[in-house]
Amino acid sequence: MLDFCIIGSGISGSTISNLLSKKYSVVVYDKARGYGGRSSFKKYKDKVGFDHGLQYISPKSTKFKTFTNQLIKKKVLKKWGGNHLFLHKTVKEIKNHIKLIGTKGNNSISKHLLKKIKCNFEHELTNIKRLNDHWELTFKNDVKQKCKNLILTCPFPQSKKLGQKYLNKSYLNQNVKMDANLTVMIVTNKLKQSNSSYFFNDDMLGWAAYENSKKRFNYKYDLWTLQSTYKYGNKFTKNYRNKRKYYTNQLVKKFEKLTKLKIKKIYYSRIHGWMYSSNSNPLKQLSLWNKSLKLGLCGDYFGGPRLENGWLSAVDLFNKIGKIRI
Ligand SMILES: Cc1cc2nc3c(=O)[nH]c(=O)nc-3n(C[C@H](O)[C@H](O)[C@H](O)COP(=O)(O)OP(=O)(O)OC[C@H]3O[C@@H](n4cnc5c(N)ncnc54)[C@H](O)[C@@H]3O)c2cc1C
Repeated sequence: MLDFCIIGSGISGSTISNLLSKKYSVVVYDKARGYGGRSSFKKYKDKVGFDHGLQYISPKSTKFKTFTNQLIKKKVLKKWGGNHLFLHKTVKEIKNHIKLIGTKGNNSISKHLLKKIKCNFEHELTNIKRLNDHWELTFKNDVKQKCKNLILTCPFPQSKKLGQKYLNKSYLNQNVKMDANLTVMIVTNKLKQSNSSYFFNDDMLGWAAYENSKKRFNYKYDLWTLQSTYKYGNKFTKNYRNKRKYYTNQLVKKFEKLTKLKIKKIYYSRIHGWMYSSNSNPLKQLSLWNKSLKLGLCGDYFGGPRLENGWLSAVDLFNKIGKIRI
């Protein structure tokens, strides 16, 4: 029987899987089609594509800086240069603020950490059951799996739903506020501008990234990722699917207005709604390990809203698990 099943291939799932796999048998399951969770890369053509979730990493803690420096050396991460224009009045750009991105896409870290681990995509976990000495997992596609230990790395509401029978009330009753985000990806004619990104002071549009400036590809057209503010995302993400064109147009028009750039042609557009994009009220603890049930939880919502928090949480959980007897 498998030692560990890990649910999620984002930064938390890939980090804990990588650490545990050095000693135990580990298999990853993710409901998505590919690696990275909220730091996934939406392919357009060959190497051409969009970072439609996480935009960039800006390491803060010494531990995480050491980790990212190693990944820069291995060419998994690189610096995102160019001019990042800050049009926000109240939030000021921090001087020497490093922006790290995945060399081939922002899911590069997850891909790197999981390269030797078996990952089953398009497997949505729907039920977990603790039997005498193991977990029985049931997936939406009727697949069943048994494992001795289970780690959930999905965002708080999803982990809570899956684990509610087994997690204690004081944990379940905690309030983690998750903000939503609407993200538009467009391929346009070449726009006459030279910035790598824009950070706006607006109720609707928060940020725009010029994908070509990341120098992962050379392409005849421009690729832009436009992300809404949380305020706009929280209001419209739940029902955006009924009016995809409308919300795309709203965000594109706003982009043109705020940058004063004129788009002549849109060759491709896609909109994605992130219900659980970021959490503004994270948990104080760093991870959760129930030794008797052999159930672990980690994710960015333990400690903060950024990728670094997901990594720190996974490392903390690994240390808590320590030398368990399988
Ligand atoms: C639009 C947006 C912009 C962001 N910008 C930044 C940024 O610039 N900088 C930064 O540091 N952070 C940013 N973040 C936050 C960052 O992406 C997250 O902190 C980080 O990716 C969280 O990683 P995680 O592994 O904890 O969770 P996730 O990446 O969400 O991984 C959880 C995984 O679990 C899977 N899953 C969920 N439920 C199930 C189930 N039932 N069965 C199977 N699989 C399941 C999901 O498919 C997912 O792959 C941004 C996030 C978004 C959405």
